[in-house]
Formats: sequence, structure tokens, C-alpha cells
Amino acid sequence: MTVLWNARLIDGTGAGPLDQASVRIEAGRISEVGSANGARPAGAIDLGGRTLLPGLIDAHAHVSSDTLRSPGFGPPAPLHGELPRPRALGYFILAKSARALLAAGVTTVRDVGSYDDEGIALREAVRLGIVEGPRILCCGRIISATAPGGAIFKSMYREADGPDDMRKAVREQLRRGADFIKLMATGARSVVAEDPEPAQMTATECRAIIDEAHRLGVRVAAHAEGLQGTRMAVEEGVDTVEHGLSLHREPSLLDAMAQRGIVLVPTLSTFHDLADRFTGDFAPTLVEQAKRQRDEAYSTLVAARDAGVTLAMGHDSGPPGDNAIELVRMVDGGLTPLQGIVAATRGSATALGRDSELGTVTPGAVADLLVVDGDPLADVRVLNDPARVWLVMQEGRIVAGSRGRTASSTPGPAVA
Ligand SMILES: [Zn+2]
Repeated sequence: MTVLWNARLIDGTGAGPLDQASVRIEAGRISEVGSANGARPAGAIDLGGRTLLPGLIDAHAHVSSDTLRSPGFGPPAPLHGELPRPRALGYFILAKSARALLAAGVTTVRDVGSYDDEGIALREAVRLGIVEGPRILCCGRIISATAPGGAIFKSMYREADGPDDMRKAVREQLRRGADFIKLMATGARSVVAEDPEPAQMTATECRAIIDEAHRLGVRVAAHAEGLQGTRMAVEEGVDTVEHGLSLHREPSLLDAMAQRGIVLVPTLSTFHDLADRFTGDFAPTLVEQAKRQRDEAYSTLVAARDAGVTLAMGHDSGPPGDNAIELVRMVDGGLTPLQGIVAATRGSATALGRDSELGTVTPGAVADLLVVDGDPLADVRVLNDPARVWLVMQEGRIVAGSRGRTASSTPGPAVA
């Protein structure tokens, strides 16, 4: 049993902050949220008024040993003449990523597509207690119609055509160990030969994937950029819309999402990557397209919030540990800091279908927690400042933070 004492609690539900809060943790779950009145119980961790909130959840990440988009995080690029690097080095990079995510207070990640099943490998390494890292949910390979993107993304994709093949592709991902299904409703902004506007697969194919996934009890995430494909994904009944930047053009679709509980993961950061950050690395037409998409994504963020759509935080960028820059951008884009925090906690948990036990500090919830120095409601940037991370708990166990590094943490069971 652990007690966190004298916290400023932001519980992830959207309620305002609760000062002088006390949170009791038993068997990895929150058993009681109350008031820190009277004497501090023996053994309680005194937060000294620091802000306690649910561990952050990144609902759109790509677990990857490829650190090209994460300058400074991975090993230096090999020079001509050096021996080829062993493939297995990549798994050490994955382990480093897992550690960096935890250190940043990211306690759960939804992997929406990785090469060579790296996401599943890392998920299992964490689950089995081989490396410390966040809880990871994986889609296996992304199901796409045969498309130019398949030539670029190779083992990240499972190309399929026709409804029967789509069903088979769903079944294959489950055999691989997927926790949910991801489909490409439209082409990708990062592929010159793909127009992201029209639906890429047919509605019949999309329906087959969703029907098969839901029949077998897993959720469906749809990559959706242009309006036609996004409309198809919403009408056919996906559970989350990834990117969804065109939605501001058709408010009735946002209303439908709000009504049906379809979550939007706006991934603002990925548009900044192509439009501002790595412009030299992409074809000029893609950079120009991304500038328009970036502006549309911000319009959709606010329109979706106003329509009552549940929002989730998805970084879709690098380096690992910088995830909360997405939360900062959501607030820069017009959410209040509290709305941004809710998106990064309960909203993301809702995207994962796990909001009954993740993403809030409420009795019964899993004790995945983040304590930061400072007030994120006054300046949300404190959530993206590594120096401010005071304590990170995973299932009630201290796993990171400046307090955590000096405290004795009892080893606990691996993450389930
Ligand atoms: Zn992505």
C-alpha cells in the first residue's frame, strides 16, 4: 500500500484541480482519493503540493528502431566504409525508447504500425519484465489496399484487396498478436504517388475489416486524411480517426463522431514534421501539401472540440519522450490546458477502449501516475519538460522521476 500525500490533483476526468489531495494505492490500483487533512500517514510520499495527474497516454505512436526522425536520440548514422550495423542493435534502440517514454511520464502507448513487428516485440519485452517501458497496444501491420505506400512502408503494411482478403488480413494481425486493427482509409501525406484526398480502399473493403475486427472483439483505427476517405471511415463505423484533418470541412461528420463516440487523434506534430521540421528530407510537393494540412488540422482540432468529439493525444513523431509536445500544440491550437490534459489521459484511454481503468486518477483505476513540479494549468509546457518530472508510477510502482531516482522502489510485477 502506498499513499501519495498533499498533491494538487488533476484527475483526468475534466474536473478542476483538487488541492491537498491524498491518493491511496493498493495492489497497483487506486483505492481511494481523498483529502490530505491531519497528520501524514507513516510511509506516505509527500508531494509537497506538486501536481499529480494520470500517466500520459500516447494514442498514436510508431514504435521504431529507425531514429531518422529523432535527431540525437539514436546512434550516429553509419559512415561510408563502416561495417554494416547488426540488425539486432535495433532492439536496444527499442529498449532505450521504452525507457525514454517512461521517463517522460508516458505510461501507455498505442503503436499504430511498426516495421518487422517491432511494436509487438517491445510490448512483449515490457510485459515479460525484460525491459522497463510503458504498456503498449499494437495493431500488428497496417491493412492497406495495394498502393504506392506499400512500396515505401514495406513490412509496416499488409496490403489486401477485396473484402475476403481484408478479413483474412484482420485475422492475420490477430494471429500475429495485434490488440487492435489499423486500416488506411486514404493514402498517406508522406507518399508522393498517393493522393490523400479520395478513399483508398472501397467502402465494401472498409466494412469487411471493421465487421471482422468488431466480430472478433477488437477496435479499429483508421488513417484518414482527405474528406472522402474520412467520411467512409466514420460512416462504416471505425472507433478512432487518425489525423482526420479534413473534418472541419464537414461539421455533420464531427457531430456523427460525437454521437457515436468515435475518437479523433489529431496528430498535429506530424504535420509540423513535414511542413516545418524535416522539409529538406521530403519531396517539395509533400512539404507544400503538409503546410495546408497542418493548418487544416488546427481548424479541425477546434471544430471537433466544439462539436463534443472526444480528442486523444497522438504524437506520431520523435524523439521518444517528446510526446507531450503534441499536448502543448493542442493547447497552442485552442484547447484549454485542462482540455489538453484530458485528451492526453482519459481521451487517449478512450481511444484505446481502456477508459474504464486507464487515464484517470479515480478509485479502481490502474495506478499509472505522473507527478510534475509546477502547474500545467498555468503553463502546459511543464508537461514537456524532463526536468519537471518528479515521479512516474506504473501500476503503483515508482519507475522514473527525480524523486523516484533517489527513492527506494520496491520491485513489482511486470505490466499486464
Ligand atoms: Zn502515424
